[in-house]
Amino acid sequence: MLIVMNHNATKADVDAIGRIVKEMGFRAEPIPGSERTAIGVLGNHGYVDDCKILELPGVQRVIHVSKPYKLVSRDFHPDNTIVDVSGVKVGQGCRQVVVGGPCAVESEEQIVKTAIFVKKCGADMLRGGAFKPRTGPHTFQGLREEGLRLLAIAGKESGLPIVTEVMSPDNVGLVAEYADLLQVGARNMQNFDLLRELGKIRKPVLLKRGMSATVEEFLAAAEYILAEGNDQVILCERGIRTFETATRNTLDLSIVPLIKEMSHLPIMVDPSHATGKRSLVVPMAKAALVAGADGVLVEVHPEPEKALSDGPQSLTFPAFERMMIEIGQLTAFMRSC
Ligand code: PEP
Ligand code: MN
Repeated sequence: MLIVMNHNATKADVDAIGRIVKEMGFRAEPIPGSERTAIGVLGNHGYVDDCKILELPGVQRVIHVSKPYKLVSRDFHPDNTIVDVSGVKVGQGCRQVVVGGPCAVESEEQIVKTAIFVKKCGADMLRGGAFKPRTGPHTFQGLREEGLRLLAIAGKESGLPIVTEVMSPDNVGLVAEYADLLQVGARNMQNFDLLRELGKIRKPVLLKRGMSATVEEFLAAAEYILAEGNDQVILCERGIRTFETATRNTLDLSIVPLIKEMSHLPIMVDPSHATGKRSLVVPMAKAALVAGADGVLVEVHPEPEKALSDGPQSLTFPAFERMMIEIGQLTAFMRSC
């Protein structure tokens, strides 16, 4: 439930509502806005009788929110959330970020070389999987803790913040020691124990959309993280399963402006996993930025033909360099419009 106050409501009016909501057994969260204050009511598991509240001074109206998410919705938080990834701000609107790096960390040489190269081209963060969620158990599963150590070296050498995946609640502490932004992969979007654990840490989270998740399920998954107290969440569209098999997934770009309407959280797009095909990555990265994405996440590898995972969708160094030039021209043009 959301209680919308009159624009001339006083602090005493807001405090009185907080007391009544507490007496009712719920939590009140004031949400100051430029025009008026709203108060979110949290902790209820069904309809809340609003008679007592509507009688109180300063109350304009009560909105009953029947969605499975509240904290992530724009109703509860009209202003955009800006996520701070070790100094890189995501969600500012005027500045879109690029995350580049291999699918998986394979060796010190591979990750350091890539980090220095993407930084030189203007990337904002380095990605690389140490814990890899692979479809089959007989494929490369990642270097695990050793991979995190190599990422730390690459981060130090390049000065780039590190984005890497955490697959299990037990590893959140370990991955958080190394990562600046902890990624939840598509296969784990509804691993609720993992989401709850990530809600308890003080590091930002990149939550990828599940391959068959609806927008409502996606936002409800993000709600688990916010409900535990961590509001530093970036959503990421990475393609969904459809009848189409010509591409690895179907990139649902319309989710970008839709999420902007429904939520205050930033949203990024991963055109690499969305398409699975190197030649499609750059056009879709550019389309994502035009659609209003707060950034793109792109796989790049020094020798994609030798990559231990996702080589066919990984950009070569020259292709990444060209993409960064084109993105620079595109964003300059968009700012001038
Ligand atoms: C990845 O980013 O390497 C990855 C496995 O992505 P997704 O979870 O989107 O498949
Ligand atoms: Mn990958």
